[in-house]
Amino acid sequence: MMGTLTELFAPERIAVVGATAREGSIGRAVTSNLIADYDGTIIPVNPNYDEVLDLPCVDGVGEADADMAVIVVPPKIVLPALEEAGEAGVTNVVVITAGFGETGSDGASREQELKEIAAEYDMDLVGPNSLGIMSTSNGMNASFGPENAEPGSMSFMSQSGAFITAVLDWANDEGMGFKDVASLGNKAVLDETDFVDHWGDDDDTDVIIGYLEGISSGRDFIDTAREVTQDTPIVLVKSGRTDAGAQAASSHTGTIAGSEQAYEAGLDQAGVLRAESVQELFDAAQMLANQPVPDSNEVAVITNAGGPGVMSTDAVGDADLEMASFEQETLDTFSEQLPPEGNIYNPVDIVGDADVDRFSEALDIALADDNVGSAMVLSCPTAVLDYEQLAEETVKMREKHGKPVAACFMGGESVDESAELLSDAGIPNYFDPSRAIDALDSLWEYRQIQRREYDAPADFDVDREAAREILERVEDRPDNRLGVEAMGLLEAYGIPMPDSEIVDSPEDAREVAERIEGDVVMKIVSPDILHKSDIGGVKVGVSDDEVEDAFEDLITRARNYQPDANLLGVQVQEMSDLDAGTETIVGMNRDPQFGPLMMFGLGGIFVEVLEDTTFRVAPVSETEAREMTEEIKTAPLLRGARGRDPADIDGIVETIQRLSQLVADFPAIMEFDINPLVATPDGVDAVDIRLTVDPEEL
Ligand code: ADP
Ligand code: MG
Repeated sequence: MMGTLTELFAPERIAVVGATAREGSIGRAVTSNLIADYDGTIIPVNPNYDEVLDLPCVDGVGEADADMAVIVVPPKIVLPALEEAGEAGVTNVVVITAGFGETGSDGASREQELKEIAAEYDMDLVGPNSLGIMSTSNGMNASFGPENAEPGSMSFMSQSGAFITAVLDWANDEGMGFKDVASLGNKAVLDETDFVDHWGDDDDTDVIIGYLEGISSGRDFIDTAREVTQDTPIVLVKSGRTDAGAQAASSHTGTIAGSEQAYEAGLDQAGVLRAESVQELFDAAQMLANQPVPDSNEVAVITNAGGPGVMSTDAVGDADLEMASFEQETLDTFSEQLPPEGNIYNPVDIVGDADVDRFSEALDIALADDNVGSAMVLSCPTAVLDYEQLAEETVKMREKHGKPVAACFMGGESVDESAELLSDAGIPNYFDPSRAIDALDSLWEYRQIQRREYDAPADFDVDREAAREILERVEDRPDNRLGVEAMGLLEAYGIPMPDSEIVDSPEDAREVAERIEGDVVMKIVSPDILHKSDIGGVKVGVSDDEVEDAFEDLITRARNYQPDANLLGVQVQEMSDLDAGTETIVGMNRDPQFGPLMMFGLGGIFVEVLEDTTFRVAPVSETEAREMTEEIKTAPLLRGARGRDPADIDGIVETIQRLSQLVADFPAIMEFDINPLVATPDGVDAVDIRLTVDPEEL
């Protein structure tokens, strides 16, 4: 199949707007990089010259009859050049020139105009402020970087151009190859989602890798990447940017949920493999580009050395993998074939005097075992072992069994030749067993992603109008905040809550308390009091006789705390069974890149202290909501630890989904806490809420 950006990566005639032979200029670098290998025609564009680097030069891009333009002119003349390209029907454009959104308000407005021109002519535009793009399919190096990519099946995008130059320099030494490379620059038009979408359909791209600093449109990225990763793995490394510009949060969720949480959740939901370092990125990418995905997470380790065998067992323990347990038949064969002082259980120790034949045989036996998903050959140099032959046998066995194999031939120079043999066959060799295991782990991780089923978010029958009316009340508030007085929102969206009423006299309080069976909880209701219990504004277990005094006391406390506080009354609420239940929190915070981010965790008044929370970008599906309830550290408490009855987890799952629907329906909701959502064996109770609403968005 051909992707949507096929023409961008395979143009036949490239106009270099701003081409020049001037030493040290970017115009020269781009032109000569193209001259080096490009299969098609290069047309320098520059009114000052008749020819550039021996190529005939034209005055304007309109005269070039090009299907792609690379723009390297100074910032002030980029826009006219772009206009001219558009007029001439050139829709593939790479803007290398910097001095746009990254440089302040002049640049930002220039970038805005650039976007408008690109939209007018329906351009696929890379940049501005891009290093350029490359494709090894036609030798096109439309960049000003010092190195061209070698051919291969990884396609690579990067938000940092400098990072591309560093990676290519290194990858070329390592013998790693690429299909396409794109420097995203300011992502004014094309962003990571467009490239992922394209490469997902590109038959020559086996793995998509990337370095990103942010994601332009999080939800689109998730929806696109999810589909792509069914066939083409995506591995990304992200630089750790802090939450610049995050709004001052007034909810628990807002305090905890930062851009890092959103990014982590979003990429996971997108089915993207995340690398923590450049090394991890390429270890994973190389494996994914060259090896089959395993059917099981069980790894066989064949080794001639005990110590490193133990190290690999530890590494397997840290990964999502398991040491394979062999079938009886395999164990019997090992017993027959291996010396008695060896170990037939995993890691299979074939002893220090093992030669290549013994290694090969053991690997053959292990890979034939149905339990075994992948294998690692782990060896230390010995006098009886020829590393090159061992490499050949390893390759042979990998091919024979069609299962992934990683190599860990330890040693220095003595390994070099064999490592190259292995690498040519797509088997990475690492000195460190844990690196080999991690590389195998990324294959297994990808296998899990391929098996995922993405269910659509549920669409509950709700009362949107009622919710809107309640949210509109925020227009009378100076601070955009709503509290328990807005609990009707829960009712409108079908989220269960205890019986309660807000009253403004001791007598009414008593009346409500008498209607509600048993003791009640009483709370001060005021938009000026964010955390009610901090000022003693929550009284739990109040009997009917105590209600009137409690009312007076709550009012006094509120007045003492802030004499001019806006008091809306006192909430009299049915007790939830905290002894049988667990206090959880279900919340939402809006992330600038991913939109509404749902949080679930252990709740109560110590949420920030415990920080046992997990996140998903909304709208969440039932599966995603359920995963959230399984992921937190204290999940065993919900499942019923120490003889307690399990909590109503279905009720929590539904509450997460319903709140997810509410915040997706109303972009005006900026933050939302249900804290606590008390989960008992009999159901869930939303006991307290707090939200921030942006009236402009209503
Ligand atoms: P805030 O978070 O503003 O301090 P909450 O309404 O969440 O106020 O109450 C604080 C704590 O009081 C809760 O975490 C819970 O432990 C307890 N609590 C509040 N309401 C109830 C209730 N209806 N049933 C049982 N416990 C409650
Ligand atoms: Mg609370």
